[in-house]
Amino acid sequence: MIKQILSLAKNTADPAVYILSGSLPMEAELHLKALSLYGNITRADRSTIEWRLAERQLHLKTNQSNSWFIEIKKICLKYDILDCQDFLNNPLGKLQWKSLITKKIHTYWNDKINKDSERYSSLKYISGEYKTKRIHPILTTNTSNCRDIIKLPIRTRFATGNYILQTNRAKFNQNEVSAICRVCGKEDETISHFLISCTPLETERMSLLKSLREQYIKVLELLNINMHDIDVDFIHVIINPYHLVNYCGTSLTSELCAFINTHIEPACRTLIYKLHLHRYKLLNLGQKRSRKYNLRS
Ligand SMILES: [Zn+2]
Repeated sequence: MIKQILSLAKNTADPAVYILSGSLPMEAELHLKALSLYGNITRADRSTIEWRLAERQLHLKTNQSNSWFIEIKKICLKYDILDCQDFLNNPLGKLQWKSLITKKIHTYWNDKINKDSERYSSLKYISGEYKTKRIHPILTTNTSNCRDIIKLPIRTRFATGNYILQTNRAKFNQNEVSAICRVCGKEDETISHFLISCTPLETERMSLLKSLREQYIKVLELLNINMHDIDVDFIHVIINPYHLVNYCGTSLTSELCAFINTHIEPACRTLIYKLHLHRYKLLNLGQKRSRKYNLRS
């Protein structure tokens, strides 16, 4: 469902959904609700049925039991919340409990999603960038202008490795399909070829790419980094410029993000979108020509 909302293909790696949307997996949401309810029980009067049931079952039941309270015990262990039984005798206040379970659950899923994302080569441009409840900045926009919003699905397909170029087609078809670019017919159609070097797309990219390179150099100056000292290729900057945040101290993060929001991200979106449109236009023209040729011969 979230994949549909984000216009992602069904086979997009799951961590991509969380990285882009900042949402928690359903399992985590259910655990938050269950632990929240357990917190209410720990704070209830000792004479209530729920409190007495909790104390008895946590004391008597084994880990094999289907008791709801044993499930709570397992959930607490999963999130490194030790001795959940102790909270019955020394309950935390409502806000303290909420803060504890939220912190533990968020930390667990932040680590897990970021670690999982590193296993997918398709996510190499955004891996490790999950932050709970934060929409990834490549998906945010300061405008409600349709012309800007329409660029987002293509942008996210690139960031999640789901934009199908000829090299992907060749890979999916066990090399029975040629990886050669069908627009220029000169090289394999890789991401780098499409973004930087495919000659028939040059008019679409020339000015945008020039200004992007200039802004990139300004960012490096802002960060006081020599271009040769960091291992970031320019393709990565075009697909996800926010990756550069990893190279600056926390004091510069907001300044850098603001710079990228204003000067880099809009140009990256436009560049990718324009190249995408022009590529399809040229491919369609090529198809029409070959159909005409086939009809004549
Ligand atoms: Zn080409």
